[in-house]
Amino acid sequence: MSLMQFCDGEIAEAEAFSVPLTSHALHYGTGVFEGIRSYATDDGGAAVFRLPEHLERMRKGAEALGMKFDVSQATEAVLATLRANGHRDAYIRPLLWFNAGGLGLDVDKLSERLMVATLPWTSHLGTHRVRLTVSSFRRNPAKALPPLKLCGNYVNSILAKREATQRGFGEALFVDDGGFVVECTGENVFMVKDGHVTAVEHGDALPGITRDTVIQLTGAESRPVRIEELKAADEVFLTGTSAEIARVEAIDERVFAGSPFGDALSTRYADIVRGRSEAARHWLTRV
Ligand code: PMP
Repeated sequence: MSLMQFCDGEIAEAEAFSVPLTSHALHYGTGVFEGIRSYATDDGGAAVFRLPEHLERMRKGAEALGMKFDVSQATEAVLATLRANGHRDAYIRPLLWFNAGGLGLDVDKLSERLMVATLPWTSHLGTHRVRLTVSSFRRNPAKALPPLKLCGNYVNSILAKREATQRGFGEALFVDDGGFVVECTGENVFMVKDGHVTAVEHGDALPGITRDTVIQLTGAESRPVRIEELKAADEVFLTGTSAEIARVEAIDERVFAGSPFGDALSTRYADIVRGRSEAARHWLTRV
C-alpha cells in the first residue's frame, strides 16, 4: 500500500495529489516547512514530541512570507496523517507553500497549499559519531534571511553539506567572519568543558527545539562560542529533531576522545521522547 498523505484538507494516497509546474514555491523557494518526530511509546501507542512548538515556529515562517496558517488545522492534519499510515516511529513533514498563480515576486495574490507527509522511521540512536568540517560557506545572515524553516534558506545548507561530503566528512559546521560558531546544516551545537555544558548561541542559527529541550534538561549556559574554544572542548555534540543527540568524533583534524556526556544525554533523551519520564510528559501529544 502506498503512503497516505494530507493535502489541502484531504487525506489520500500520495499519488492522488499533484502540483502545477508553475507553482511559485518550486521556482523561488517560497514555502515554510517543519521536521517533527513521533515516537512509539511503551503502552503500544505513539506520541509527537513538542508538536505545538514546531507548529508555532512554522507559523512564524508563514507570517514572514505573509501566508495564512491555521495551527489547529495543521495539528489535526499531522495526527490524522500518522493515524492513516499507522505510523508510530515516524518523521513528520508539513509544508505550506505558495501555489501557481503568477511568477512575479509579489506574492500577495497567491493562494497557499498545505501538505503533511509522514515517513516510517527507525531510530539511529547509539550509532556512529559524526565528523564535522568547517564550511567554506557562511550561514545565511539573519539580516538577509530570518533563521526560520523557509524552503529557500535550505539551499545554503545543501551547498555546505555537498562540500562536507566531497571532503569526506559527515556534516558541515558554519562559522561566521568573526570566527564565531553558528550551527550545522540541520543541527545546533553544544560543547562540554570540565563538566560545564554550553549551548552555542548565534543570531544566524535556527532556534532549535531540541536545543531548547537540552538546555532545559541540563541547565546549559547559552552564549557565543568561537571555533578555537569549540575545538578545545572536551566534548561536542549536536542537537536536532532528526539527529536527536549526535555525538561529534572530530572537527577537521581535531579528534575528540569520547562522548560520555553525549552518550548519557542521548539515553535520557530517548526515554523522554518515548514517554518514560513523568516530568517530561507535557512535551508529548498523543497520536
Ligand atoms: N538548525 C537548522 C538549520 C535546522 O534545520 C535544524 C533542524 N530543524 C536545527 C538547527 C535543529 O532544530 P530542531 O531541534 O528544532 O529540529
